[in-house]
Amino acid sequence: MKARISELFFSIQGEGLLVGTPQIFIRFFGCNLNCSYCDTRPRSFRCYSVSGLMGQTERLGAHGARWVSITGGEPLIQSEFLGAFTSELKAKKYFVYLETNGILVSNLRKIQDRIDAIAMDIKLPDAGGHEFWKEHAAFLRACRNRKRLCVKVVIGPSSREEYLSKAVRIISSVDPRVPLVLQPDSRFPGSSLRRCLRFWPLAAAELEDVRIIPQVHKLIGVR
Ligand code: SF4
Repeated sequence: MKARISELFFSIQGEGLLVGTPQIFIRFFGCNLNCSYCDTRPRSFRCYSVSGLMGQTERLGAHGARWVSITGGEPLIQSEFLGAFTSELKAKKYFVYLETNGILVSNLRKIQDRIDAIAMDIKLPDAGGHEFWKEHAAFLRACRNRKRLCVKVVIGPSSREEYLSKAVRIISSVDPRVPLVLQPDSRFPGSSLRRCLRFWPLAAAELEDVRIIPQVHKLIGVR
Protein backbone atom coordinates (compact mmCIF):
# COMPACT_ATOMS: atom_id res chain seq x y z
CA MET A 1 0.00 0.00 0.00
CA LYS A 2 1.41 3.40 -0.97
CA ALA A 3 0.36 7.03 -0.57
CA ARG A 4 0.79 9.90 -2.97
CA ILE A 5 2.60 12.66 -1.08
CA SER A 6 3.29 16.05 -2.59
CA GLU A 7 5.28 17.67 0.25
CA LEU A 8 6.97 16.67 3.46
CA PHE A 9 8.60 19.34 5.62
CA PHE A 10 9.10 20.78 9.07
CA SER A 11 7.61 24.22 9.79
CA ILE A 12 5.44 26.25 12.14
CA GLN A 13 1.69 25.78 12.03
CA GLY A 14 0.26 28.98 10.59
CA GLU A 15 -3.49 28.32 10.75
CA GLY A 16 -6.16 27.59 13.31
CA LEU A 17 -5.96 27.00 17.03
CA LEU A 18 -2.53 25.32 16.97
CA VAL A 19 -0.96 28.34 15.29
CA GLY A 20 2.66 28.71 16.34
CA THR A 21 3.19 25.01 17.06
CA PRO A 22 6.24 23.48 15.33
CA GLN A 23 4.97 20.56 13.29
CA ILE A 24 5.98 18.03 10.69
CA PHE A 25 3.76 18.60 7.66
CA ILE A 26 2.74 15.78 5.36
CA ARG A 27 0.82 17.05 2.37
CA PHE A 28 -1.27 14.34 0.73
CA PHE A 29 -1.75 14.76 -3.00
CA GLY A 30 -5.13 15.34 -4.59
CA CYS A 31 -8.41 16.87 -3.57
CA ASN A 32 -12.09 16.27 -4.15
CA LEU A 33 -12.78 20.03 -4.35
CA ASN A 34 -11.57 22.97 -6.41
CA CYS A 35 -11.80 26.06 -4.21
CA SER A 36 -11.17 29.44 -5.80
CA TYR A 37 -8.68 30.44 -3.09
CA CYS A 38 -6.74 27.17 -3.07
CA ASP A 39 -3.01 27.71 -2.54
CA THR A 40 -2.08 24.03 -2.43
CA ARG A 41 -2.48 22.49 -5.87
CA PRO A 42 0.85 20.77 -6.45
CA ARG A 43 1.19 18.93 -9.74
CA SER A 44 3.61 16.26 -8.68
CA PHE A 45 3.90 13.68 -5.95
CA ARG A 46 6.06 10.85 -4.71
CA CYS A 47 4.78 7.50 -3.61
CA TYR A 48 5.64 6.31 -0.10
CA SER A 49 5.01 3.10 1.75
CA VAL A 50 3.96 3.33 5.41
CA SER A 51 7.48 2.48 6.57
CA GLY A 52 9.09 4.85 4.04
CA LEU A 53 6.89 7.75 5.15
CA MET A 54 7.48 6.90 8.79
CA GLY A 55 11.23 7.02 8.20
CA GLN A 56 10.98 10.48 6.61
CA THR A 57 8.73 11.67 9.43
CA GLU A 58 11.23 10.57 12.07
CA ARG A 59 14.05 12.26 10.20
CA LEU A 60 12.08 15.54 10.31
CA GLY A 61 11.14 14.76 13.93
CA ALA A 62 14.82 15.21 14.80
CA HIS A 63 13.90 18.92 15.14
CA GLY A 64 11.96 17.85 18.24
CA ALA A 65 8.45 18.31 16.83
CA ARG A 66 5.88 15.92 18.31
CA TRP A 67 2.92 17.06 16.22
CA VAL A 68 2.39 15.71 12.71
CA SER A 69 0.04 17.68 10.48
CA ILE A 70 -1.79 15.47 8.01
CA THR A 71 -2.84 17.94 5.37
CA GLY A 72 -3.52 18.28 1.65
CA GLY A 73 -5.15 18.46 -0.76
CA GLU A 74 -7.67 16.32 1.06
CA PRO A 75 -5.87 13.63 3.05
CA LEU A 76 -9.02 11.61 3.75
CA ILE A 77 -9.11 10.60 0.09
CA GLN A 78 -6.27 8.23 1.01
CA SER A 79 -7.90 6.97 4.19
CA GLU A 80 -6.83 3.34 3.85
CA PHE A 81 -3.18 4.36 3.91
CA LEU A 82 -3.89 6.90 6.65
CA GLY A 83 -5.33 4.16 8.84
CA ALA A 84 -2.05 2.24 8.78
CA PHE A 85 0.16 5.32 8.92
CA THR A 86 -1.59 6.99 11.86
CA SER A 87 -1.33 3.71 13.81
CA GLU A 88 2.44 3.89 13.34
CA LEU A 89 2.49 7.54 14.37
CA LYS A 90 0.60 6.78 17.58
CA ALA A 91 2.90 3.84 18.32
CA LYS A 92 5.81 6.31 18.16
CA LYS A 93 3.96 8.75 20.46
CA TYR A 94 3.36 11.50 17.90
CA PHE A 95 0.30 13.73 18.14
CA VAL A 96 -1.74 13.66 14.95
CA TYR A 97 -3.38 16.81 13.59
CA LEU A 98 -5.82 16.37 10.71
CA GLU A 99 -6.56 19.30 8.40
CA THR A 100 -9.53 18.43 6.23
CA ASN A 101 -12.22 19.99 4.11
CA GLY A 102 -14.78 18.32 6.37
CA ILE A 103 -16.76 16.35 3.81
CA LEU A 104 -15.64 12.70 3.74
CA VAL A 105 -17.18 11.57 7.02
CA SER A 106 -17.14 7.82 6.35
CA ASN A 107 -13.39 8.00 5.69
CA LEU A 108 -12.91 9.97 8.91
CA ARG A 109 -14.66 7.23 10.90
CA LYS A 110 -12.02 4.71 9.80
CA ILE A 111 -9.19 6.64 11.47
CA GLN A 112 -10.62 9.04 13.99
CA ASP A 113 -9.54 7.17 17.12
CA ARG A 114 -5.92 7.91 16.09
CA ILE A 115 -6.42 11.64 15.57
CA ASP A 116 -5.58 14.06 18.40
CA ALA A 117 -6.83 17.28 16.82
CA ILE A 118 -8.99 18.19 13.85
CA ALA A 119 -9.28 21.42 11.91
CA MET A 120 -12.22 21.06 9.55
CA ASP A 121 -13.37 23.53 6.96
CA ILE A 122 -16.85 24.64 6.24
CA LYS A 123 -16.78 25.65 2.60
CA LEU A 124 -19.10 28.51 1.76
CA PRO A 125 -20.78 28.04 -1.61
CA ASP A 126 -19.10 31.18 -2.95
CA ALA A 127 -15.71 29.44 -2.56
CA GLY A 128 -16.33 26.80 -5.18
CA GLY A 129 -19.91 26.98 -6.38
CA HIS A 130 -21.13 23.92 -4.45
CA GLU A 131 -23.08 23.46 -1.24
CA PHE A 132 -21.89 20.92 1.30
CA TRP A 133 -24.07 21.85 4.27
CA LYS A 134 -25.30 18.30 4.91
CA GLU A 135 -21.84 16.80 4.59
CA HIS A 136 -20.28 19.40 6.89
CA ALA A 137 -22.98 18.91 9.51
CA ALA A 138 -22.48 15.12 9.48
CA PHE A 139 -18.71 15.54 9.69
CA LEU A 140 -18.96 17.94 12.62
CA ARG A 141 -21.34 15.63 14.46
CA ALA A 142 -18.87 12.78 14.01
CA CYS A 143 -16.06 14.68 15.74
CA ARG A 144 -18.02 16.86 18.15
CA ASN A 145 -16.81 15.20 21.36
CA ARG A 146 -13.12 15.66 20.90
CA LYS A 147 -11.24 18.14 23.00
CA ARG A 148 -9.17 19.63 20.19
CA LEU A 149 -11.47 20.57 17.34
CA CYS A 150 -12.03 23.74 15.39
CA VAL A 151 -13.92 24.80 12.32
CA LYS A 152 -12.30 27.13 9.81
CA VAL A 153 -14.15 29.26 7.29
CA VAL A 154 -12.21 31.25 4.68
CA ILE A 155 -13.75 34.67 4.20
CA GLY A 156 -13.18 36.67 1.03
CA PRO A 157 -14.20 40.23 0.13
CA SER A 158 -17.46 39.06 -1.41
CA SER A 159 -18.36 36.20 0.97
CA ARG A 160 -22.07 36.37 1.63
CA GLU A 161 -23.45 36.94 5.10
CA GLU A 162 -26.29 34.46 4.57
CA TYR A 163 -23.76 31.69 3.94
CA LEU A 164 -21.70 32.53 7.01
CA SER A 165 -24.92 32.60 9.06
CA LYS A 166 -25.79 29.14 7.81
CA ALA A 167 -22.33 27.84 8.78
CA VAL A 168 -22.74 29.36 12.24
CA ARG A 169 -26.17 27.75 12.64
CA ILE A 170 -24.72 24.34 11.79
CA ILE A 171 -21.96 24.69 14.39
CA SER A 172 -24.37 26.04 16.96
CA SER A 173 -26.80 23.17 16.44
CA VAL A 174 -24.02 20.60 16.96
CA ASP A 175 -22.16 22.34 19.80
CA PRO A 176 -21.81 26.12 20.27
CA ARG A 177 -18.56 25.54 22.21
CA VAL A 178 -16.73 24.40 19.07
CA PRO A 179 -14.27 27.20 18.19
CA LEU A 180 -14.75 28.91 14.84
CA VAL A 181 -11.82 30.50 13.02
CA LEU A 182 -12.61 33.13 10.40
CA GLN A 183 -9.60 33.13 8.08
CA PRO A 184 -9.23 36.09 5.71
CA ASP A 185 -8.57 35.08 2.10
CA SER A 186 -4.84 35.80 1.78
CA ARG A 187 -5.21 36.95 -1.84
CA PHE A 188 -7.18 39.98 -0.64
CA PRO A 189 -5.90 40.56 2.90
CA GLY A 190 -7.33 44.02 3.62
CA SER A 191 -10.82 43.63 2.21
CA SER A 192 -11.13 40.06 3.54
CA LEU A 193 -10.11 41.15 7.02
CA ARG A 194 -12.73 43.90 6.92
CA ARG A 195 -15.32 41.28 5.96
CA CYS A 196 -14.22 39.08 8.86
CA LEU A 197 -14.61 42.01 11.26
CA ARG A 198 -18.09 42.63 9.89
CA PHE A 199 -19.07 38.98 10.27
CA TRP A 200 -17.50 38.42 13.68
CA PRO A 201 -20.41 39.86 15.78
CA LEU A 202 -23.04 37.68 14.11
CA ALA A 203 -20.93 34.56 14.68
CA ALA A 204 -19.99 35.54 18.23
CA ALA A 205 -23.67 36.04 19.10
CA GLU A 206 -24.24 32.29 18.69
CA LEU A 207 -20.86 30.67 19.36
CA GLU A 208 -18.63 30.82 22.42
CA ASP A 209 -15.25 31.15 20.71
CA VAL A 210 -14.90 32.96 17.38
CA ARG A 211 -11.47 34.15 16.29
CA ILE A 212 -10.05 35.92 13.27
CA ILE A 213 -6.72 34.31 12.39
CA PRO A 214 -4.89 35.02 9.12
CA GLN A 215 -2.42 32.56 7.59
CA VAL A 216 0.43 33.41 9.93
CA HIS A 217 3.03 31.31 8.08
CA LYS A 218 2.65 33.64 5.09
CA LEU A 219 3.10 36.70 7.30
CA ILE A 220 6.35 35.38 8.79
CA GLY A 221 7.64 33.99 5.50
CA VAL A 222 7.75 30.26 6.19
CA ARG A 223 6.11 27.38 4.31
S1 SF4 B 1 -10.32 21.75 -0.09
FE1 SF4 B 1 -8.34 22.71 0.38
S2 SF4 B 1 -6.87 21.65 -0.93
FE2 SF4 B 1 -8.91 21.17 -1.75
S3 SF4 B 1 -9.25 22.72 -3.35
FE3 SF4 B 1 -10.14 23.51 -1.44
S4 SF4 B 1 -8.50 24.77 -0.51
FE4 SF4 B 1 -7.55 23.45 -2.06
